[in-house]
Amino acid sequence: MQWQVALPYTIPLFLATVLTCVAMLVVWRHRTVPGALALFGLGVAATLWSFSYALELSTVGSPLAIIWARVQYLGIMALPVAWMIFALQYTNHYRWLNRYTLSGLLFIPLVTQVLVWTNDLHYLIWTRITLDTSRQFPVLNYDHGVGFWICNGFAHLCLLAGTVLLVQSFRSAPRLYLLQTMIFVFGASMPWLANLLYVLDLNPWPGLDLTPFAFSGTVIAIVVNVTWFRFLNLVPIARASMIERMPGGLLVLDEQNNIVDLNTAAQKQFGLTAATIGQPADQVMARWPQLVQRYRSIASVSETLALERPNDDPQYVNVEIMPLYDNNQRLCGRLILWNDVTRIKQAETELRQRNEELIELQQHHILAKEAAESANRAKSSFLANMSHELRTPLTAILGYSELMTLQLARRGVTDLEADLEAIQQAGHHLLDLINNILDLSKIEANKMELEPQRFPVQLLVDEVERTVRPLIAHNENTFSVEGAEDAGEMVADPMKVRQVLLNLLSNAAKFTKHGSVSLNIIRESSIHALDQLVFVIADTGIGIPQEYVPHLFEEFTQADASATRSQGGSGLGLAISQRFCLLMGGNITVTSQAGNGSTFTVRLPAGIEAASAAE
Ligand code: ADP
Repeated sequence: MQWQVALPYTIPLFLATVLTCVAMLVVWRHRTVPGALALFGLGVAATLWSFSYALELSTVGSPLAIIWARVQYLGIMALPVAWMIFALQYTNHYRWLNRYTLSGLLFIPLVTQVLVWTNDLHYLIWTRITLDTSRQFPVLNYDHGVGFWICNGFAHLCLLAGTVLLVQSFRSAPRLYLLQTMIFVFGASMPWLANLLYVLDLNPWPGLDLTPFAFSGTVIAIVVNVTWFRFLNLVPIARASMIERMPGGLLVLDEQNNIVDLNTAAQKQFGLTAATIGQPADQVMARWPQLVQRYRSIASVSETLALERPNDDPQYVNVEIMPLYDNNQRLCGRLILWNDVTRIKQAETELRQRNEELIELQQHHILAKEAAESANRAKSSFLANMSHELRTPLTAILGYSELMTLQLARRGVTDLEADLEAIQQAGHHLLDLINNILDLSKIEANKMELEPQRFPVQLLVDEVERTVRPLIAHNENTFSVEGAEDAGEMVADPMKVRQVLLNLLSNAAKFTKHGSVSLNIIRESSIHALDQLVFVIADTGIGIPQEYVPHLFEEFTQADASATRSQGGSGLGLAISQRFCLLMGGNITVTSQAGNGSTFTVRLPAGIEAASAAE
């Protein structure tokens, strides 16, 4: 029986098959890891190859042997494809794994399958198959056709490309994974070793193709890495995407403080290159003795350091050191991470400075406010005292001058009449001025208080009319009042309303000669808001030039015309009236033209609705 004779060759082949199957089971458990499915495919192909090869050897002499030789080609041609896919996925070249490359990769293997099974029609794969009985046991000898050489070339090309990709990626893998990398490279080089033995005719088992063993070896080597070292999980995808792109620096030191790994940020920070890997950290970092000194034996720390820089502010670095343990929980090195936090530190310092400035400013502000308040209090009390002090002698002056006028009139002395009148006029003017200044200072110090009362508007208007009528008549003006009887009641400070109306009417009387002065009162009702009382004071006097109109309500403002100046006044009346109206929730507006009279409109909230006013 051929199968008994071939046992020395078939047993290792079956063994390789079983081992590969076990390895595939492990891979299957890791099938979600990138490259795992391709690795599984690689295992299936290697198993198929070694298993059918073993069966071919066992059945040499029967037609079955050729069938098994054909089945082998399923594995033989699936291997390069799976190898390429594995290498591309493992080295993170997913971009290249598109429809076109996949169909390109599958084309030759598929055509080969067709050619293998139809070989008797064209002999492109095998031109002749003979039985070789010159060896220890009979084997089939194949003379190869052009199809074989094409598919063989394709398989070697794939093997080469995949190996180059993997070896390249291992070159950038950190030293920490040296053992894993070596196992991987050894696994990947096994098929090449088998080829080399074949080419150099050094095969210790002549007539036995070692390639299926080699591929089984490759799969097993990779699986050992996956299971024992979790290699497939870590390298190189995770490292490339995480560690290299980290904004902060990363340095891995082994137990003897040799540099095992460092990322690009670390290389930049210390002006190092990847070539420093393997060198003692003390030597490489000799330019930073304080760092070496400080961290030589610290296994775990997290702190912020200030690194002095020539001609610049210090650089702030956040350093974190963590111990690294191997699978047996033995300390095998240290992981050092650092981040440049200079900007954050600078921002913090700036913020602190700003805060201090703000607090200082606030304190100044408080002091200034206190000073202003105390000055204001002093001013108010000064004004109150002064006005009292001024008013007392002024009242005496006015009183005595009136007494003198009477006494002189009784004695029949007339030549001093004009002088005494001048004294009285000046005294009254001064009294007005003092009263106005007192009012203004009270408003500014927010001391002016309103004393609202409910009163009939007509009553107030009648009183005002009685007061101003002689003034208006003095300049031969006519005076008319309209709308007072329909104005109803209002709730406001009657003294203030009275003062406003008196001021506006006495201005009208002052600046109008041989003309007319009118006062119109209108009660405006609204469904959305409370009623308003509108007092319109119009005259046909000298009017106000346009350029003065916007400044009319400012203190000490008088229209710059000799005509107005000649009327005396202090320029405070309108300013005080406007403030009173604003205080009561209303305002005064004016329309005027030089030479064409003026119209002042006072608008005040009635404080009550018309209906309740009529009660
Ligand atoms: P004064 O005490 O000077 O009258 P006011 O504040 O009452 O102070 O008025 C300021 C200035 O506004 C007046 O000096 C005058 O130039 C102008 N003015 C006020 N009312 C009238 C008016 N009815 N016709 C013309 N000018 C007026």
